[in-house]
Amino acid sequence: MPREPAPAMRCAYHPDYYLELPPSHPFPMAKYPLLKARLQAEGLLAPGDLIEPREADLADLRLVHTDAYLEQLATGSLDPAAVRRIGVPWSPALWRRSRLATQGTLEAARAALEDGLAANLAGGTHHAFAGHGEGFCLLNDVAVAIRVLRRDGRLRRALVVDLDVHQGNGTAALFADDPDVFTFSMHGERNYPLQKMRSTLDVGLADGLGDEAYLALLDGHLEDIAGRFDPDLVFYLAGVDPARGDRYGRLALSDDGLARRERRVLDECRSRGWPLVVTIAGGYAATPERTAELHAIVFREARRLGPC
Ligand SMILES: [Zn+2]
Repeated sequence: MPREPAPAMRCAYHPDYYLELPPSHPFPMAKYPLLKARLQAEGLLAPGDLIEPREADLADLRLVHTDAYLEQLATGSLDPAAVRRIGVPWSPALWRRSRLATQGTLEAARAALEDGLAANLAGGTHHAFAGHGEGFCLLNDVAVAIRVLRRDGRLRRALVVDLDVHQGNGTAALFADDPDVFTFSMHGERNYPLQKMRSTLDVGLADGLGDEAYLALLDGHLEDIAGRFDPDLVFYLAGVDPARGDRYGRLALSDDGLARRERRVLDECRSRGWPLVVTIAGGYAATPERTAELHAIVFREARRLGPC
């Protein structure tokens, strides 16, 4: 019997990653189905590559989040200030969506440990803390995945490479006292969140930064990290909000600069033999279509380079 060719890159996705929001809401929810459709149209996502997550188990979420916060999320009893801080109106569908996307990152991480490279077509909700959410983030998917895999003996050291333009404040706080999780965040220094938490390595960027300066900094810091830390798995938050023209980003990376960024991260992991899981994190281009186009870049580059 001929063997099936190995899937190019397994990707977690669920139709309910998409959630109807009020028309005036700034979050581009449509980017999730648009990204999936684009990857399929480009031949980057075959049916056999798809992982459809279920809702994350409460027992798994409790490894990161407090019982009180999870209870509020499950029952819709967050107070109005807590909902404002999250920035998305609570609904049962939002709670379900957050659990699906969190499980998606966990499933993608398991796939990455087997295949060397995998992705979630959502995730990277790095502004979620143990006891509260903010900045469109309810649950910290990467933190949940790390804690579950460690509980299950699949992982010891994890590296979080967070290149979303906003600091990974929730992730930094959750692993502040954990020497086995290296949190690396490169973000707009003057951008949200104004009060930064301390990551293992924070690189604050000036407004308006372009390709060459950004990539030179990234190169230097990846090199530095590799000399200090040897992870069993890398979580990449491939936010595309550093792109020029992003509504919230304030940086100025070109499409080519983003592609070079993705190659740099993928290459680093590949050359060091570090399994890599990609989450898409933020992106707020002029239209959801354009945002999805930018998110597709990392998948195109991953296909070009192949797995670790
Ligand atoms: Zn962001």
